[in-house]
Amino acid sequence: MARRDYYEILGVGRDATEEDIKKAYRKLAIKHHPDKNPGDRTAEEAFKEATEAYEVLKDGQKRQMYDRFGHDGLRAGSGFDGFTGFDLADALRAFMRDFGGFGFEDIFGVGSTSRGARGAAVRGQDLQVTLELTLEEISSGVDKTLKVKRQVSCEQCGGGGAEKGSGRRNCPTCHGTGQIKSVARSLFGQFVSVHVCNTCGGEGRIIEKKCRECGGLGTVRGISTVDVKIPAGVSGGNYLTVRGQGDVGPRGASPGDLIVVINETEHDHFTRRHDDIIVEVPLSFSQAALGAEIDVPTLDGNTSLKVPPGTQSGKVFLLRNKGIPHLNGYGRGDELVRVVVWTPSDLSVEEKELFNKLAKTRGEKPPKTDKSFFEKLRQTLGV
Ligand SMILES: [Zn+2]
Ligand SMILES: [Zn+2]
Repeated sequence: MARRDYYEILGVGRDATEEDIKKAYRKLAIKHHPDKNPGDRTAEEAFKEATEAYEVLKDGQKRQMYDRFGHDGLRAGSGFDGFTGFDLADALRAFMRDFGGFGFEDIFGVGSTSRGARGAAVRGQDLQVTLELTLEEISSGVDKTLKVKRQVSCEQCGGGGAEKGSGRRNCPTCHGTGQIKSVARSLFGQFVSVHVCNTCGGEGRIIEKKCRECGGLGTVRGISTVDVKIPAGVSGGNYLTVRGQGDVGPRGASPGDLIVVINETEHDHFTRRHDDIIVEVPLSFSQAALGAEIDVPTLDGNTSLKVPPGTQSGKVFLLRNKGIPHLNGYGRGDELVRVVVWTPSDLSVEEKELFNKLAKTRGEKPPKTDKSFFEKLRQTLGV
């Protein structure tokens, strides 16, 4: 199959600077990153392809070879490793190496489960916890300390998994390589497949005598505290990945990640719609008719709102920038205040008289169907 031109893949010209190449790759890599496109094989291929192109073009020497001889210039025997067997794990590692320093959360926003060492044979388990947040906490951003039940390093053996005085030796099955190669022949030729050694789990070494405390695993159940920083503006279902805070890996292998899933606690007053919040505020007959200055709750405490005379029930007032801050962005949503005229149901004799008087003064006619009233209602309901 003809292979696509590296410059074409990255969408840059042949005279592109190193900076152009880096920029173009970063954009593509983020777009096609497997964590953003779970289960999408096409995106995975695009991610690998872009990474391969980047790996060549960012390297002056490789780029020169490629410019002169094309893909053949990079084949084995040309002094370079070539890219046979450049798999997803390599691509993820390359991306992490050059762009991991920013932190994945910064690149993707909350919602990433990235890690560099995907595909490693042995690694601690990822753990998932749910974190309940109030709208106020979401609005301000918050630091939380979580208690997490997880596998921690075994103190008895120092995490190595071996009983005191006992050592480790090369695995007899794979002779220390951690891998078993098998060769299969077919009509199309010979295939070599490599899989993880079952005896040593890919570690290449086995323990002579297992630690009694942890059974040779090197880890035991424990509880740890983990500090997390929640940025303002997250939503329910968003998650943060705290790298390395999952289960400690067996016998000193790298730890898993802790995935913190955000759950939004229902608020007594506010309803959230994207980054806007909606609140309903009662208004008395006289306030609606005469106008008033009323107290309205916001996420930052009460504020006063001027209601003009003749305000209809259901009217929505807009408080700009009183909503939820935009996640990883500038500015925040608005607060929509919907006033609802409160009809009293426990009138005293005196009050009844007053309403009767009022009704007589106004001719006791039912209110006219004011077209603009229904128009406004429709707008409020979005129908
Ligand atoms: Zn132990
Ligand atoms: Zn082995």
